[in-house]
Amino acid sequence: MDLLEHQGKQLFGRHGLAVSDGKAVTTVEDAVAAANEIGYPVVVKAQVLIGGRGKAGGVKLAADEAEAREHATNILGLDIKGHIVRTVWIEAASDIATEYYAAVLLDRGAKKPLVMFSSEGGIEIETVAEETPEKLVRDNVDPLEGLTREHALDIAKRGGADEDVIEGVADALLALYEVWIEEDCSLAEINPLIVTPDRQVKALDAKVTLDDNAMFRHKENAELGDSANADPIELKAHEQDVIYVKLDGDIGIMGNGAGLVMSTLDVVAQYDGKPANFLDAGGGSDAAKVTQAIELILSNPAVKAVLLNIFGGITRCDEVAKGLVEAFAQLKPTVPFVVRLDGTNDVEGRKILEDAALPNVHAAKTMDGAAELVVKLAKENA
Ligand code: GDP
Ligand code: MN
Repeated sequence: MDLLEHQGKQLFGRHGLAVSDGKAVTTVEDAVAAANEIGYPVVVKAQVLIGGRGKAGGVKLAADEAEAREHATNILGLDIKGHIVRTVWIEAASDIATEYYAAVLLDRGAKKPLVMFSSEGGIEIETVAEETPEKLVRDNVDPLEGLTREHALDIAKRGGADEDVIEGVADALLALYEVWIEEDCSLAEINPLIVTPDRQVKALDAKVTLDDNAMFRHKENAELGDSANADPIELKAHEQDVIYVKLDGDIGIMGNGAGLVMSTLDVVAQYDGKPANFLDAGGGSDAAKVTQAIELILSNPAVKAVLLNIFGGITRCDEVAKGLVEAFAQLKPTVPFVVRLDGTNDVEGRKILEDAALPNVHAAKTMDGAAELVVKLAKENA
């Protein structure tokens, strides 16, 4: 789960990283009130899950109430690369002497945390990595030992931190590493990590991704994330414990098991079809779960045909067939379905479908045949 900047800063604050005080608001009036309360100058910052907000006009300094009002008015509702701004974060403006970069992430290749630091902050770190890689320190950390103070000081020095803030940068790296470990992040990044004229080290931005698989350990973080901008079908799927990702095509897809769904998407694409979603109903789905999953697929109005590709193992094909019959009774779909049932109780499953004689439901024997047929039906129904 990706966090908005102000949510990331909230986590930073919990672990002793210096951040500015501020307030998240959704209306111009609240923005002005927050700015008055914090005291000028303030920064008005768009809260969207995309970088480069500054360049897009989503980060503005305000010296007084009139400017705060003007910037809040312009930024709320602004479209930044397809992300509509619904929340702005108002914080006390900082004076900047220098901008650095710091991050902790998972290095999958090394199977270890990776700490990165550079004195070339404020700009895109990809540019630094490409043009002046010697200015970006990238060090793996032994996960059992953790980041030691000695190592953090060494990273700060090699990354080019000013002599008088090496201690402060090391403290920030240690705090960021603690955030990454204790909050179960897959990414914790600060760009820029600033040095103020009075030589304080402070996080001016926050990019944090939490590991969804560890959310059960962090009930306090469950409310975070950008639910205001989430896809409503994805939200509902999440509540129902169904793995659903919206895509932009017109063929609804359901399978059981991530691998099978992935290959189904591939085969559909091979026949020139465009999947409308990824939906993994999971192993052992009963009829009720199948009915729910079909409801999710059909709630996307772009769907012109549906492919159910089930390989029965723990999942029983007769349960899937019952779920489909129930879905038809409840939802009366108007789009064609192609159903491929193979594996545990497939004969029983196909018999249930045959007996129910559902309108516009086509049985397919193979995955290839199913994909070819569903693409053809979607085109006819487009
Ligand atoms: P991003 O563009 O999405 O990465 O947003 P940032 O939060 O990194 O802000 C972009 C830039 O705005 C920063 O690199 C700073 O140069 C500037 N900025 C943000 N906050 C402040 C502030 O409090 N004071 C000053 N002077 N500049 C700021
Ligand atoms: Mn930034």
